[in-house]
Parts: sequence; C-alpha cells; structure tokens
Amino acid sequence: MHRIKIFIASSNQGKIKEIQGIFKDYTIIADASKFEHLKVEENADSFEGNAMIKAKALINLIDDSSNFLAMADDSGLCIDGLDGEPGIYSARYANIKSGILGNSSDISNIECVIENMKKKSLQNSKAKFVACIAIIGNINGKHIEFISRGELEGEIINNPRGKNGFGYDPIFIPLGHCKTLGELEPEEKNKISHRKKALEKIKDFLHTHPFNND
Ligand code: IMP
Repeated sequence: MHRIKIFIASSNQGKIKEIQGIFKDYTIIADASKFEHLKVEENADSFEGNAMIKAKALINLIDDSSNFLAMADDSGLCIDGLDGEPGIYSARYANIKSGILGNSSDISNIECVIENMKKKSLQNSKAKFVACIAIIGNINGKHIEFISRGELEGEIINNPRGKNGFGYDPIFIPLGHCKTLGELEPEEKNKISHRKKALEKIKDFLHTHPFNND
C-alpha cells in the first residue's frame, strides 16, 4: 500500500471523485480552502505548459517534505474546422473573442463555437478534447516531475444535445458513439474521457517507476 499523498487544487467534486477512483492506493488531499490563494497566470502556449505552471504554483503551498505529489491539469477542445480553436483558450473563448478578461459561461462558449463554424459554413467538424496532467513532488527522497496527455477524438455538431456534463459536452460526439457527451451518463463519459486517459498514464508512470520499489 502506498502512503503517498496527492494534493490537488480543485473543488470540482466530479474531478476529485474521478481521481480518487483511479488512485485508490494514494491519499488524495483536495482542500480547496487551503489552496484558495492559488493565483496563477496560465500564460503558456500549450496545455502541458499551463498544467505545469499550475502544479508549480501548488507545490509552493504544500508544507509536507516527503512522499507527496502536487497534481494539476489543463484541458480544452481543439476543433479542426476552426484551425484548432478554442484550444488552450477553451474556458474563456467567448470572452477573448469579445475582448473581455476571465472565463466565459459554458453557454456563451458553445454559442461562440457555433457562430464561428457558421461563418465558415460548417455544420460539423472533426475535433478532439485534450487533457494534460502535471505532477511534481518527492517520493522516497527522489524528485518527481512528469506530464501526461490524454485525448478524446470526435465530432463537433452545431445543435447542442443533452444536459449532462459541462463545458462543450452538448456539442461533442465521441468517435464511435451516436450520443453527445451531454447525453451520455457521467460514468460512460468517465470511461472514455481525455482526463481518464491522462490520469491512467500518470498512474502507470508511478507504478512502473523505480522510486516506488525502494
Ligand atoms: P481548464 O479548467 O483551464 O482546464 O479549462 C478547461 C475548459 O475546457 C473548460 O472550461 C471547458 O470549457 C473545456 N473542457 C475541458 N474538458 C472538457 C470536457 O470534458 N467536457 C467539456 N468541456 C471541457
């Protein structure tokens, strides 16, 4: 049994549960109040870069000195027909397009995608969700630093369907499915999601790395 603590700076219960489900042998510490002062500027030009910026900011708030990891993620949607947009700007897509700072609502982001597809006369487009997860920490006296990437391929449609999930889920149909992520049950989405794939890669890294056999 590992006694490694994984700190995550999230108050999203869905994300926390998903991480707890995959990292059963670890102690997950998701104390959002402790990390509320975590202010980071996500100014890298990649999902990997932004995930690492968040993990490095989080590690500065952790007092533990051994057997711990700080874990942070960055994710988004890349639409082929929109030249990869909204990409790393997924959370603030509509606001950026109107010159406003900060994240925009899910509804306005979806409307923004549909409007931009319309401008290009697109009713649908190949697309993918990307999730990058960074870990930094110390296990058995060894410095650990690793980034994983998970992707979910599919298609963007211009008529939202379904009330489940969040973000762009109602306009994304995963490859091999007929339903949007907004219509799939959360358990079904969690089995195939980009985040799940990235988390599994972190788990494999931790299980196969020599520091774990010390
Ligand atoms: P982050 O919190 O900076 O990683 O931003 C992620 C943004 O990408 C969210 O606000 C959503 O708009 C979008 N996104 C990421 N993953 C998903 C997903 O699984 N479904 C729908 N939208 C997602």
